Amino acid sequence: MGVPAIQSVGLSKRYGDFYALRGLDLEVARGEVVGFLGPNGAGKTTTIRLLLGLIHPSAGTAEIFGLDCHRKPVEVHRHLAYVPGEANLWPTLTGGETLHLLGQVQGSVDPIYRDELIQRFDLDASKRVRTYSKGNRQKLILIAALMTRPDLLLLDEPTSGLDPLMEQAFRHCIHEAGERGQTVFLSSHILSEVEALCDRVGILRDGILVDMGTLAELRHLSSLTVEATFDRSVPDLSRVPGVNSVEIEGRVVRCQVQGTVEPLLKVLAASGVHELLSHEPSLEELFLAHYGRTSGSDGSPPDAG
Ligand code: ATP
Repeated sequence: MGVPAIQSVGLSKRYGDFYALRGLDLEVARGEVVGFLGPNGAGKTTTIRLLLGLIHPSAGTAEIFGLDCHRKPVEVHRHLAYVPGEANLWPTLTGGETLHLLGQVQGSVDPIYRDELIQRFDLDASKRVRTYSKGNRQKLILIAALMTRPDLLLLDEPTSGLDPLMEQAFRHCIHEAGERGQTVFLSSHILSEVEALCDRVGILRDGILVDMGTLAELRHLSSLTVEATFDRSVPDLSRVPGVNSVEIEGRVVRCQVQGTVEPLLKVLAASGVHELLSHEPSLEELFLAHYGRTSGSDGSPPDAG
């Protein structure tokens, strides 16, 4: 396995009495694509800025490839490329000049790959940056980050401003990066993006990592929705282990199942069920399940884990 790409222990950032990030323990293996989901103000950007060594931790440590992010920022930055949600660029340079300049700062650039990226993102690199739309500026910083093929890509809401076609181009590039063994850490509000790209997902709320796991693991936290239509009278499902929120409408019953569905299936099979529908929660529902619940009075996550 070797040294993890990212490791943080008890990582915290406090502004006065307010914790923007509290006690983050995170480990991302080399070659993993990990997503960080959270609403506005959850602490996603704070986490990324701590990893970049742009702000000092109030407590705890963060390392990238075994290098302390706060003490060794120069060495750390040799391994990574960063894409912010919005970047300040030189307005009078063209897109091509900007890539040339950033490429010189960052080191090795594969010019063939850079040109391929310009094509894929359909960017007119001959225009001055001040004439670019928000989406075009975003494409430019994405290309700048991808063209160096860094060991680690730190992406903070990287697709803000991109249209669906460009979002596809981005996904394609991230898949490729993952296949090449690069590590990707991305924060996002776009659930479908995280669902499509990430091996694991962390859910951050109020500065606390409330959950971290594969999508399959996180789905267990949420319930399965089951709708059953019966030939005869409707059985009483309210006492079946794991079943809750039972609603009856004529001969149709709707309920939520937490954990194994087996006890419910046994009752249904013995009760003349005529039609059965069930669906897994989408990441959207998982997300809402987390943010729908309130945190404990001490700021602790609600029954996390
Ligand atoms: P968004 O999705 O809106 O970008 P985020 O999850 O990236 O949100 P952060 O930018 O990390 O959230 O902010 C976390 C919290 O820390 C917010 O409540 C923010 O107001 C606060 N915060 C960030 N920087 C500072 C600062 N310099 N001084 C005081 N509070 C700050």
